[in-house]
Amino acid sequence: MPQSVRFLVAGCCLALLLPAAARAGGVPVYDVDVDDALQRLRVTVCFGGEPPRMLHAEDERASRYLLGTRANGLFSGRLRPLPSGAGTTMPVRPDDRGCVRYDVDLSRDSDGGFGALFLRRGGAVVLSPHAFLWYPADAGEVEVRFRLPAGFEVSTPWQPIGGGARAPAYRTGARPPSWDARIAIGALSSHAIALPGGRLDVALLPGSPPADPDMLLRWLRRSGEALVSAHGRLPSARVQVLVVPLGSGREPVPWGEVQRGGGDAVHLYIDQRRSEQAFLDDWVLVHELSHLLHPPMRGSGRWLYEGLASYYQNVLRARAGLLDEATAWTKLHAGFRRGMAQTKRGRTLAEAARNMPWTREYMRVYWSGAAIALLADLELRRTSGGMQSLDTVLGDLARCCLPADRKWTDREVVDKLDSLSQTEVFGRLYRRWLDSDRFPDLTAAYRTLGLEAPSDKDIRFVGGAAERESKRAIMAGGGSTDPR
Ligand SMILES: [Zn+2]
Repeated sequence: MPQSVRFLVAGCCLALLLPAAARAGGVPVYDVDVDDALQRLRVTVCFGGEPPRMLHAEDERASRYLLGTRANGLFSGRLRPLPSGAGTTMPVRPDDRGCVRYDVDLSRDSDGGFGALFLRRGGAVVLSPHAFLWYPADAGEVEVRFRLPAGFEVSTPWQPIGGGARAPAYRTGARPPSWDARIAIGALSSHAIALPGGRLDVALLPGSPPADPDMLLRWLRRSGEALVSAHGRLPSARVQVLVVPLGSGREPVPWGEVQRGGGDAVHLYIDQRRSEQAFLDDWVLVHELSHLLHPPMRGSGRWLYEGLASYYQNVLRARAGLLDEATAWTKLHAGFRRGMAQTKRGRTLAEAARNMPWTREYMRVYWSGAAIALLADLELRRTSGGMQSLDTVLGDLARCCLPADRKWTDREVVDKLDSLSQTEVFGRLYRRWLDSDRFPDLTAAYRTLGLEAPSDKDIRFVGGAAERESKRAIMAGGGSTDPR
């Protein structure tokens, strides 16, 4: 179909189906029209009240993708390019219905790296809402309605509110618009994995060679079940899972991340040529899923959130049978040793966590946090006779406070975990180790667990039934028997 006719048809149908106006006093409504060559998004945003004269982007890179604004009616107006140096502000002239139109360029190449706002993969694109949603000042929740060509699908972390397959509509929710997310549009394949407490909404992007969806879904389900073994249910009722095949990579999952904008999401950039066993043996997915056990936190909480994920990436894989128990302890031990090797005298753990992106002391921060997670887990199990554990307290945290629409501080999480467990376990560990320039002392923990460490990479299992039971209780899940 020639482009001009296609636009005419799209314009005609949109005009017939949609008044393209926000409900009076309601949230801004964005209609996003997708062309079948994935070259351009035509955005119409209408406002419930007085329309703004300026729209703002959440990311300064957004102006790279903005072609300009349209005036004088639906898709018929001239596109006015943004003045150069406009940065994150776009002056707009709303029409007499209070709507603004602008176009977003998808024709350019991806701008590199996994943090890019835009990535093209074959017949699909992955883009940040920051690349195509320009907001009025003080925007909260907005409604986004896509118009899709036949054969296209959309994956978002947002709450679906209907609209059907060709016109899916969403509410972006209460989380701040500044929180990032990824939206996939195009020839996706969508799959739902139901698990206790919710589901993983998986979108698999096209790849060359094509990925094997059945194999990837088995890996995702198995890993989701590992997460559920923490406290019995998914911490979020709906988790967007984006799987982006890269076609090559030094590992099965060269990049994985959790993003929280508009909902909880895990993004996996994979080398789809790897075997199923290679994916099952990889740690990244269970690490990322483990991040769903805690609320979003500020950067100073890196020691806590990366510590929890680094601890659980081994514990949960052992519970799911993805690692044997001995290997899980060996991997934890090797991690602790990497953390010790990077622990420098004169710099506290709190400082290391705050400065990690610049000093790159990842090993110290991640594995100090994992050591504190192990110490907390053992202490809770010991003092409660196996009735409590890190699992049970995180289950209580999920029930009271997840999913969370704001970022917590590490101190808030620590205090909440203490109040939920009616202990001072977390506060004591926080006071003992956050202002220390030493790696958390695991001597007594290793004694309790019957672990001896002849080298950085080796661990020896010693002790009797009590020590065996302490190890088993963690790696098999559930409470331990009273070690007395
Ligand atoms: Zn992490």
